[in-house]
Amino acid sequence: MIKCIATDMDGTLLNMHEKVSEANKRAIEHAQSKGVEVVVATGRSYLEARHALDEAGLKCPVISINGAVVWDEEGEMVASNPMDREDVERARAVLDEADIYYEVYTNKGTYTYDKKVSIETIVDLLVSAFPDVDPAYLEKRATERFDLGLVHVVPSYAELFADENIQCFKMLVFSGDQDLLGHTGGKLKEHTSLTVSSSGKENLEITSPSAQKGIALEKFVAKRNIALSDTMAIGDSYNDISMFEKAGKAVAMGNAIADIQRFCDEVTLSNHEDGVAHAIEKALK
Ligand code: CA
Repeated sequence: MIKCIATDMDGTLLNMHEKVSEANKRAIEHAQSKGVEVVVATGRSYLEARHALDEAGLKCPVISINGAVVWDEEGEMVASNPMDREDVERARAVLDEADIYYEVYTNKGTYTYDKKVSIETIVDLLVSAFPDVDPAYLEKRATERFDLGLVHVVPSYAELFADENIQCFKMLVFSGDQDLLGHTGGKLKEHTSLTVSSSGKENLEITSPSAQKGIALEKFVAKRNIALSDTMAIGDSYNDISMFEKAGKAVAMGNAIADIQRFCDEVTLSNHEDGVAHAIEKALK
């Protein structure tokens, strides 16, 4: 019997408009009403995750930034796994040498050094991911992150990291150049002890090795005396693999790439077809 459900957000719980559908919301509330723990496990920062959950009126604990920071349902931080400072410096050197765009997730918020480059980079990637969607709408989405205060601008990352109170939780690298991403990921693994994962074919997610969704989920269920074998994880990408490995039941989204679908026990519908609701209702039967 499933006693805990962990769900990813982007490409999983959220549709292409970055919203929780009514069907997904109802399914989560149905599970919660039956005493099933529902935890969101995302690469997003807590603020970005909270924004989408608040819009839907959902209350649940959040494993944020791939497990770098964990929050209870009341919004209290219960665990944090920052990157080692020396590793941060080594990773910055690799990324600067590759001349590749990245944003940093810290205990003081998410930062970019250039708003214009951030918006252009994200719009380019969104346009290639959603060729049928109006580019003006995609630009609005890329800009909204700044308007909502989810991303801040600093003059340089050198200045940001000069502050010794700054803890870095994640570096999110963006590029449409697969070879450059692959090469840079290899260099990062060679020069740092950091975990290099990804949540889409156009990004790299760099975190502390202890910041992984699977590790966070294992601790989460242990605290609640729930066995991992009674846990279901739903996701669509490489940064979900650590929780797929731990959970008793691994469910891939219908929109997940073939590698991920092959890895899982089951494949549900896509995020445009309320795949999360479908998987939850099936598990509750
Ligand atoms: Ca995802």
